[in-house]
Amino acid sequence: QLYNQVQDLKGTIRVYCRVRPFLRGQSNGQSTVDYIGENGNIMIANPLKNGKEARKVFSFNKVFGTNVTQDQIYADTQPLVRSVLDGYNVCIFAYGQTGSGKTYTMSGPDLTSEQTWGVNYRALRDLFQISKTRGDVIKYEVGVQMVEIYNEQVRDLLVSDGSNRRLDIRNNSQLNGLNVPDASWIPVSSTQDVLDLMRIGQRNRAVGATALNERSSRSHSVLTVHVYGKELVSGSILKGCLHLVDLAGSERVDKSEAVGERLKESQHINRSLSALGDVISALAQKSPHVPYRNSKLTQILQDSLGGHAKTLMFVHINPELNSIGETISTLKFAERVS
Ligand code: ADP
Ligand code: MG
Repeated sequence: QLYNQVQDLKGTIRVYCRVRPFLRGQSNGQSTVDYIGENGNIMIANPLKNGKEARKVFSFNKVFGTNVTQDQIYADTQPLVRSVLDGYNVCIFAYGQTGSGKTYTMSGPDLTSEQTWGVNYRALRDLFQISKTRGDVIKYEVGVQMVEIYNEQVRDLLVSDGSNRRLDIRNNSQLNGLNVPDASWIPVSSTQDVLDLMRIGQRNRAVGATALNERSSRSHSVLTVHVYGKELVSGSILKGCLHLVDLAGSERVDKSEAVGERLKESQHINRSLSALGDVISALAQKSPHVPYRNSKLTQILQDSLGGHAKTLMFVHINPELNSIGETISTLKFAERVS
C-alpha cells in the first residue's frame, strides 16, 4: 500500500494558508480575516479610510483557521512526507511576515512538548516509524543536513565547532548526490538524535546575531532529510529527499528607514523570495524555462522543485489590523504560486 492519494499530487504545487490567533496580551481587536470557507477560500476585510471595507477572497488548497492544532496541520502534510520513503523529493516551505507563525508551524513553540511539535519533528518521527515497519522489505538509512542562507551565503548549521564557514553549491554533484556536499551530513535514527541536532543548529544560527530572533527572521533555514532505501531481495536502491524550509520574513522594509547592513539584508531577502516565487510560478504554469539560477535558495532546492518532485507552501498570516498590507501581499504571493 503505497500512498496512493499522493499520486495525484505528483508534480503539483499545493498551497496551504494558516492564520495564527491573536497572541496573549494582544488586544483581541477586530480580525482582518472575515471568513474561512470549507473549500480553501479565505475572505479578507480591509477597512478603508472612508469608513467602508474592501473585501477580497483568496483561494488555496486549504485554509487553516486559528483553532487548528499542530496535529491537524500534520495530518494534511503526512502523505507528502511519507512519499519520500517511496523515493520522491519533497519541499515544504513556511512563508510569511515575521511573527506570523512560520517557526511555529515548522518547529513548534516548545520542543519539550511533543503535542506542540511542528512539521519537522513529526515528519522525522513518521519517517523513522514507517521505515521500521517496512524493515523486512527495505532497509532505510536517514541522514540530515541543515544550512542557513543569509545574505546569499550558505552556512552549515550542524558544525559542532561553530566554524560556520561559507559553503558552495554544486548541482548534480556526482560525489554523493548532495547539492551542498560540504555541509555536515549526520545519520539519524531517532527523534532524540534530531532534537539534539536542532539544538546545535539553533546555537550556530545565533552566532554573530544580536538576538536569535533577529537573525532567524532574516535568513532562510533549510533542513534536508536524505533517505536511502535498499530493497533486501532485489538489492535495488531508492533515494528520496525532504527539504523543510523556514523562510526569512517576507515583510517589506521601509526604504527610508533601512540603511547599511539592514538594507543589504532586506534586498537579499526580497530578491531570493521573488526568485522562489518566480520558480514556483514557472513550474505551476508548466513554463519551459524555470529560473533556478537566480538565488542560492532555488539552486539548493533545484532537484526537489519541479519534475517529479512535490511542493507544499504554507503561507502564514496574522489577523491584526496593522498587518493588513503585509497580509494582502502575502496572499497575493501565494496566489501567484498556486
Ligand atoms: P515567525 O517564525 O513567522 O516569525 P513565530 O512562529 O515565531 O513567527 O510566531 C510568533 C509568535 O506567535 C510566537 O510566540 C508563536 O508561539 C505564536 N504563534 C504562531 N502561530 C501560532 C498558532 N498557530 N497558535 C498559537 N500561537 C502561535
Ligand atoms: Mg521564525
